[in-house]
Amino acid sequence: MAVTSDPILEGAVATTTTPEPITQPATAPDEPMTLPVIPGEHPNEAPRLTPVEVVPGKALYKQILPGVMQVPLDLVLAASRKSSLWPMTFGLACCAIEMIATYMAHYDLDRFGIVPWPSPRQSDVMIVAGTVTKKMAPAVKLLYEQMPNPKWVISMGACATNGGPYTRYDRVLQGVDKIIPVDVYVPGCPPRPEALIDSFIALQELIMEERGNAGR
Ligand code: SF4
Repeated sequence: MAVTSDPILEGAVATTTTPEPITQPATAPDEPMTLPVIPGEHPNEAPRLTPVEVVPGKALYKQILPGVMQVPLDLVLAASRKSSLWPMTFGLACCAIEMIATYMAHYDLDRFGIVPWPSPRQSDVMIVAGTVTKKMAPAVKLLYEQMPNPKWVISMGACATNGGPYTRYDRVLQGVDKIIPVDVYVPGCPPRPEALIDSFIALQELIMEERGNAGR
């Protein structure tokens, strides 16, 4: 440190400091890199901000965030779709009573993420529950076409599958798959709620299997 007198300001004393040279610590070229420590304002976050030794040859995100999974996007989309199926609420005949019972508290379809929805615009599952007459068939087809893709159809009961007890009736459609594609068939007259739940589980497995080409 040097003390000098200022000729301009009488009696005033100015002090100047000679800067000391900055030296970098010597590091060996093969030493693992260390991430800088970020000063934390919150004490609870301090453990997360400790330096991490980066090992060359291993993905950086796996070292900084252990436990993070890397999965294909179609797997995430299919898992999201199968876990939030929204069936459209409409019934055609007595099978609909069993369908309604499945939504109620005793069977509680909501625990599967299955939420009944009173509009085709946001629904992705159609449960054809009951007899499809030829008079009703155009309305069923129109509702199916109003649903956005991807969408799936469950044929619930013997009537929707092949006419059931009305096989010989000319005015009854001999299976709803004559007008729309069906993904899962549920046998029975009527099928019990457990059978409908089983069909949803089968549909969820189908969605995961066909995740690469969903979106028809
Ligand atoms: S399958 Fe049986 S219970 Fe279901 S709608 Fe037909 S007659 Fe009714």
